[in-house]
Amino acid sequence: MDEAPGTVDLLVRDAVLVATVDDARRELDGGWVAIDAGLVSAVGGSGSAPPAARRVLHADNCLVTPGLVNTHHHIYQNLTRSYRPAVNGSLFEWLTTLYPRWSLIDEEAVYLSAWVGLAELALGGCTTTTDHLYVHPQGAGDLITAEIRAAQELGMRFHPTRGSMSLSEKDGGLPPDSVVQDDDEILAESERLVAAHHDPSWGAMVRIGLAPCSPFSVTPRLMRATAELAERLDVRLHTHLAEDPDEDTYAERAFGRRTVEHFEEVGWCSDRSWVAHCIYPSGGEVARLGAAGVGVAHCPSSNMVIGGGGMAPVAELRAAGSPVGIGCDGSASADAASLWMEARAALLLGRLRRGPQGMGARDALEIATRGSAGCLGRDGELGVLAPGAVGDLVCWPMEGVAFAGALSDPLEAWLRCGPVTARHTVVAGVPVVEDGRLTVAGEEDRLARHRAAARRVQGL
Ligand SMILES: [Zn+2]
Repeated sequence: MDEAPGTVDLLVRDAVLVATVDDARRELDGGWVAIDAGLVSAVGGSGSAPPAARRVLHADNCLVTPGLVNTHHHIYQNLTRSYRPAVNGSLFEWLTTLYPRWSLIDEEAVYLSAWVGLAELALGGCTTTTDHLYVHPQGAGDLITAEIRAAQELGMRFHPTRGSMSLSEKDGGLPPDSVVQDDDEILAESERLVAAHHDPSWGAMVRIGLAPCSPFSVTPRLMRATAELAERLDVRLHTHLAEDPDEDTYAERAFGRRTVEHFEEVGWCSDRSWVAHCIYPSGGEVARLGAAGVGVAHCPSSNMVIGGGGMAPVAELRAAGSPVGIGCDGSASADAASLWMEARAALLLGRLRRGPQGMGARDALEIATRGSAGCLGRDGELGVLAPGAVGDLVCWPMEGVAFAGALSDPLEAWLRCGPVTARHTVVAGVPVVEDGRLTVAGEEDRLARHRAAARRVQGL
């Protein structure tokens, strides 16, 4: 059969509203999105005719947004969710309780945790996620490649980071010797993974970043050498920063300066870096991080679970120039990985901090899309529905009892009502979730194997 000229791969049509989050922040009533060769080819509203398509997805009653982008996670921690001996400790106590459990992970456990974790993210409307895997037990195998395999099977866009720890208990650090590596081994392994997997091209499905666990879990020499390696390989840098007040006490003792000052001293304060949490920077530090263009992964559920009243200064960081994205974090967070829930938590926390003008649903959507794209160095490519951007989007059903009466502002209703999960999650023009279900088979098999792996790691 002959095809009409201009026929595209996929058309998503009949949305209640398409929130493009484009440069003009256009919101298109009755909108549609056309995707061809993995990229958005056109968007339009009810007044414009969509192109012919080989495949059509219906978005009736749906808000359509760009795919949400997760900028901070430790997916392997879904093997120890809500681990009873650790749930009520401080962050440092939580870590020292769990390191011996995590020392038991291997390629099989990491593959399964990634498959399940990425599936959970896709069902919740995420299309691109990073991962920060910093536990590499001796002899555990190639854990990063194992999780990339899971992402490729599911069709998710993936930015795993090669995490690292080089200071163990004997050096005054928190983790046991069995899960740390020496600096040269970490650097060699980082370079090997970038050569094997990193794709710098527009629309790439896999990119690698380099990610010492935190400035206090590796040597200053490794922080500097990692920044130099990232510069040479042109990849991004990620770490935890200013997550807990204990950090400044530790940094003062170990390095003689505040944790953000140490971050600057070791050559990380640049727009190549994005950091997780950033709850406790001083006003001057916010200004310096913003001026340098350091990105921040805001993890609102994690802020609340860690507790103590600390809330990341999101509005101040954005005003200072930092791209601020959303992150669900690992089990230090709410043990759930729904970016809808994180966007809602960001909305609520923003208003708790700064009053009703402090944050709206449009701000939260912008953080979860454009802001996250900025953290990953992919402005204009991810997190926006505009011609040339990646064909990643989510159809959110705004129907049923949870949305009854929400008629005047679908975007605000998206985060104020709910809970809601994705009807369709599309990555590079291909549905990963369709009608609320994964399109790839194997969910029950992976869950059964994940349960066995989790029991082994937890010693049950
Ligand atoms: Zn984290």
